[in-house]
Amino acid sequence: MTAENVRFETLAVHAAEPRPAHGRSVVFPIYQGTVYEIEPGGGVDYIRYSNTPTQNYLQEKLAALEGAEAAVATASGMAAISTALRSVLGVGDRIIVAGNIYGGTHALLNEESRRSGWGVDFVDADDPAAWAAALTPETKAVYVESITNPLIRVGDLAGLAAFAREHGLTSIIDNTFPTPMLFRPHSIGYDLVCHSATKGLNGHSDLVAGVVTGSAERIEHVRHFLMLFGGSIDPHAAFLLSRGLKTLAIRVKAQGENALALARFLEGHSAIAEVHYPGLESHPDHARALELFSGFGSMLAFRPVGGLEAAERLLKSLQIPYSAASLGGVESLVTRPAISSHVKLTAEERAAAGIADDLIRFSTGIEAAEDLIEDFGRALGE
Ligand SMILES: *Cc1c(COP(=O)(O)O)cnc(C)c1O
Repeated sequence: MTAENVRFETLAVHAAEPRPAHGRSVVFPIYQGTVYEIEPGGGVDYIRYSNTPTQNYLQEKLAALEGAEAAVATASGMAAISTALRSVLGVGDRIIVAGNIYGGTHALLNEESRRSGWGVDFVDADDPAAWAAALTPETKAVYVESITNPLIRVGDLAGLAAFAREHGLTSIIDNTFPTPMLFRPHSIGYDLVCHSATKGLNGHSDLVAGVVTGSAERIEHVRHFLMLFGGSIDPHAAFLLSRGLKTLAIRVKAQGENALALARFLEGHSAIAEVHYPGLESHPDHARALELFSGFGSMLAFRPVGGLEAAERLLKSLQIPYSAASLGGVESLVTRPAISSHVKLTAEERAAAGIADDLIRFSTGIEAAEDLIEDFGRALGE
């Protein structure tokens, strides 16, 4: 079953499920074993090589969802990203990084630029002239996130993929925020797609995992580095993740509907100064999101009138969302990026990135939109 013959909702449930079912069980079992008998002429199946039955099953499902030839699942999102980068960059190579990126990835690139001699050129994701200016003979790759945190911006993703192709660079994208339900970057030319499966792909805030998808050849290369560095996924986590994937489509749809309803409510509320959600006509990347994505996702950010004090008051009085970092789960979460995801930045760096102290980020769950809106209405009235 592939994206050519069924829709994404059907794919999420049925892709990679063996027919007839394995042992007639509708649910693929957990092969927790680490070691497998060698078939005559066959290779070694070993848990760290990410080629045991439950790992293979998950990887086939993930590849189908991203519309890729192959996938390799990893022990975390950072294992996926660091291994993908290692598979592409050698000592002295350079990478062009477009737009704001996840703090962990930013720290990894900075650290490796000192330790491995990687050259990292941070550029604006909307400025092709800056990409061209950053290009050197050592440049091997471009890196971008499909939706940035916490201002929910969407860069010129198609332009960047075309730029990479034109200059023979490997294009890598972190597609964690939209998930393949809303956006499949391979379809616009990205070579490697990475995810933190800890977030929306699993969606239940109860495991850590990651994935890289791409051509069979590129993924074999990533898998080679994964074998060496050892960030393979545990089969039990693989089982839980494949379980989460089956409800990906309905979860992301419900989250998107809730997020849009809440964003509209907040935008019309006198106690709210600004709202960042690509589904709103007021968002600077609304047109681009409409063109590239089949929905606007679960993430929004906003600032209350009254600054930091009002933000703190609001966080304390909301009753439904947990005050917690992370995202993409069935439960709504609310955080202030200045003290969570972006706490390691200096106040000046945060200001330069447009992250005000009173900016609140909301990861929308699958609760009833009316309840979320009532919770905000009550909390903002206090
Ligand atoms: C969480 C996250 C990561 C890191 O994933 P882990 O599973 O925590 O290792 C990478 N990129 C983005 C966009 C994330 O949100």
